Amino acid sequence: MIDRHQDIRDAVARLCADFPGDYWRRLDAARAYPSEFVDALTAQGYLAALIPEEYGGIGLGLSAGAAILEEIHRAGGNAGACHAQMYTMGTLLRHGSDAQKARYLSGIARGDLRLQAFGVTEPGSGTNTPAIKTFARRAGDRYIVNGQKIWTSRAEYSDLMILLARTTPADQVARRTDGLSVFILDMKAALGNGLRISPIRTMMNHATCEVFFDDVEIPAENLIGEEGRGFRYIMSGMNAERILIAAECIGDAKWLIEKASAYAKEREVFGRPIGQNQGIAFPIAQAYARMRAAELMVQDAVRRYEAGENPGAEANMAKMLAAEASWEAAEAAVQTHGGFGFAEEYDIERKFRETRLYQVAPISTNLILSYIAEHVLGLPRSY
Ligand SMILES: Cc1cc2nc3c(=O)[nH]c(=O)nc-3n(C[C@H](O)[C@H](O)[C@H](O)COP(=O)(O)OP(=O)(O)OC[C@H]3O[C@@H](n4cnc5c(N)ncnc54)[C@H](O)[C@@H]3O)c2cc1C
Repeated sequence: MIDRHQDIRDAVARLCADFPGDYWRRLDAARAYPSEFVDALTAQGYLAALIPEEYGGIGLGLSAGAAILEEIHRAGGNAGACHAQMYTMGTLLRHGSDAQKARYLSGIARGDLRLQAFGVTEPGSGTNTPAIKTFARRAGDRYIVNGQKIWTSRAEYSDLMILLARTTPADQVARRTDGLSVFILDMKAALGNGLRISPIRTMMNHATCEVFFDDVEIPAENLIGEEGRGFRYIMSGMNAERILIAAECIGDAKWLIEKASAYAKEREVFGRPIGQNQGIAFPIAQAYARMRAAELMVQDAVRRYEAGENPGAEANMAKMLAAEASWEAAEAAVQTHGGFGFAEEYDIERKFRETRLYQVAPISTNLILSYIAEHVLGLPRSY
């Protein structure tokens, strides 16, 4: 990944230069959506990089998506406003009908439609996805949806949502992962017709929301794949999501390490650069070593994914190690900057807040460790 897609990396870096720290800082203070940035990425086709050419996209593999997202973060930006389009789109691509793909993927590739919202998590279920309560009841040629989602990021800025809902009650299915279905919801049509969005203010600028469904109608033709098999469809997209988020963490770590190194060289205290003190240099060096190790795991996961494997273990480990590496880099950067690490104008405190998320979402570190313990090491399932 390091030396792949260098042309894309350079082009993304040039685009990001038009959106410097000052841009992200203003939006962060206002908790506002980076519309201009997302429009610029869309206009240059980056958000359609993974959409096949037959639907108007660029038709590149996951490594290109990872390179794009890494570079955005490496430039001090935040792809959280739009990264979901790269992985939510995969559900449609792999499991959608030809008609759905023609209708939506082409619209997304043209930039007419945004598929940024991913409605899985609910307040009552948390990580235990099969326990979701949102229910879609079939009524003739449509489904009627009732329930609630939480942490549905970008819901206010998306035209479409990939929605996971129960279509058969949990007590009427053989396995608790059965009876869940995936829909593509036209949010603009549903708003005011039973769909309500309520933003949640969080410690970083992430445009995340609660979403309420009160008899929201979805045409039956918007069911993706077969009814009742939705859990598998969502799970099949998780590897891509984890790998892409891991790439963002690598980008964050690189940005933080560069900032910390530069400051450690230039800031003089007691008549010498602070970076001459091993107490300052070593944490940055340690963060660099951890970032490079995590980057190798991300590359391995990408390679396996593109070879058609199902790299659950590598995608999970890449995400966990990269999120830990970026957090370690953030710690080192704050400590290196001393008091200025807390001043907004240096952007360190913003990145510190932003990169913390990735140890919790889209999947928390504990659940990754559970996965490794159970599926790689064969230890007893813990939950
Ligand atoms: C800013 C933000 C954006 C998000 N965006 C989206 C989105 O767009 N779409 C979406 O569907 N979701 C989204 N999420 C939800 C995110 O995926 C969840 O927050 C995450 O998966 C953790 O779930 P939870 O918050 O319900 O925590 P819980 O499941 O309540 O867990 C709380 C803590 O307990 C631990 N825990 C739980 N069970 C176990 C266990 N068996 N063993 C060990 N530890 C355990 C967890 O690791 C965690 O640390 C977002 C979350 C945030 C904060």
